[in-house]
Amino acid sequence: MKGGFLLFAVVAMLVLAPERVSGQGTATLVLTNGRIWTEDIHQPEGQAVAIRGNRILAVGDAASMLKLANPNTRVVDLQGRRVVPGFNDAHVHFYTGGDGLSSVQLRDAASPQEMRRRIGEFVQHLPKGEWILNGNWDHEKWTPANLPTHQLIDDFTPDNPVFVNRSDGHMMLANALAMNLAGVNKETKDVPGGVIVRDSAGEPTGIFKDAAKGLIERVIPSPSEQHILSALLAAQKYAAENGVTSVQDMGVLGPHGADIMADVIRCYQILLKRGQLRVRVSAHLPLPEWKRFASAGVMADFGNEKLQIGAVKSFADGSLGSTTAWFFDSYNDAPGTYGIPSDELSDPETMYGRLRGADRAGIQIAVHAIGDRANNTILGLFERLERDEGSRDRRLRIEHAQHLLGSDIPRFSELHVIASMQPYHCIDDGRWADKRIGAARARTTYAFRSLLDAGAVLAFGSDWWVAPMEPLLGIYAAATRRTLDGRHPDGWVPEQKISVAEAVHAYTLGSAYASMEENVKGSIERNKLADLVVLSKDIFHIDPVEIQNVKVDMTIFDGKIDFERK
Ligand SMILES: [Zn+2]
Repeated sequence: MKGGFLLFAVVAMLVLAPERVSGQGTATLVLTNGRIWTEDIHQPEGQAVAIRGNRILAVGDAASMLKLANPNTRVVDLQGRRVVPGFNDAHVHFYTGGDGLSSVQLRDAASPQEMRRRIGEFVQHLPKGEWILNGNWDHEKWTPANLPTHQLIDDFTPDNPVFVNRSDGHMMLANALAMNLAGVNKETKDVPGGVIVRDSAGEPTGIFKDAAKGLIERVIPSPSEQHILSALLAAQKYAAENGVTSVQDMGVLGPHGADIMADVIRCYQILLKRGQLRVRVSAHLPLPEWKRFASAGVMADFGNEKLQIGAVKSFADGSLGSTTAWFFDSYNDAPGTYGIPSDELSDPETMYGRLRGADRAGIQIAVHAIGDRANNTILGLFERLERDEGSRDRRLRIEHAQHLLGSDIPRFSELHVIASMQPYHCIDDGRWADKRIGAARARTTYAFRSLLDAGAVLAFGSDWWVAPMEPLLGIYAAATRRTLDGRHPDGWVPEQKISVAEAVHAYTLGSAYASMEENVKGSIERNKLADLVVLSKDIFHIDPVEIQNVKVDMTIFDGKIDFERK
């Protein structure tokens, strides 16, 4: 036995040690003995990757990569594990998510009683007067799926205003105190672009949809700088644990929304200066404020490799879950209801004027569109923009692009519009979307396959805080379309499934393209930023159904190991 061990040790020294100690290369980190998914079409697979500082030095076989090492180089033996480029989440609400991590958790509350119990427990640890926000409840998980009302939580929240959101962020529940503070009652008039749900006597039930949320939001105090900083730190920790090395921040949901995005961007800069920013951020700003950025000379892609100003973001409609996504035909379960255009789109000429102004100033544009009519209308405005301003590489984006007319699918590639989509929503909505939109419309819902076949660029993301910021779940969703309730084992609208490789592409190079950064990141190739993820299993060679159990073992950000699963 001893002799065998000695022989093994000698062989191991001969095989591994000489390169490790004698190499004269300049690599600071070498990952060896792995399977490197490069996303580089010229070199689809490598065994090892060498990193110098925050850049990729080379990809290749283990021996040649180890030659790039020196005695101070950190060498990691991957033991055959899969490496992919760092995930780039093309659609997150980063501050909202970080803030939500420290608030009451209602996402998996399976009944109104459970929601009541959790808020009751949470309020016990709060000082009087402190607001209870976030939450992420989802009445679609309840039987029957009735909306909650303020009476559910009033008896134990007399001193704490409550304004908690549904998981899609388009609908909120207020308690009686919050409505009192905001002066909202039976006499309050309806708001364009929003809904105040009322009981048979005309009293508000506590549910406020879309633009009506502003009635309550305006009395919620804005968060301190310290509060924002700690939320961002919590968010980037969660990002690293899930292999997310870049995020495209679509802004703040809920209270203050657009108003505090500038504060959030200032906090990103504070973290950057302190050397604490451990995720690359592309921050989007609200379209109505485009003039402020234009007058400061901000154009698309302004900033550096860690923090940039992305697009101006606008809204065309609401969401499917809140019955505010805007369709040509009425909702199957609500005849006569078509959803509503957003207040920004309620006057299309005003919106077009803003889009055109921003575009002339060289600013990138992203518009949230869910229903088929919202998507069709925005594609129309984009087409008009190309006609009026001539064609150039403007990287127009539609966020969600969820329900499309079949005839609109080719327009994404014709008009060079990026479809920025969140596959997790597909397996979430797929539980109940059929009853709302019917089978015919479902065929071109989350139409990943049709969009790719028509030549469109897909950029994938999560929409966190609305959904988990877990790219592996998103990849699983795009490749299997198995709904969360287990009722579609072969996939909901299975003909729209895409391959794991296509989903990874959309989550890396596709999203980098969407923020105009495909030349610096999104693939593992020489001179690109060293953002990489090591996975517990090879997602390209297992049944896609198994991907939901795969873990991120290691996240390398900017050339340094930022997270390692214990
Ligand atoms: Zn969003």
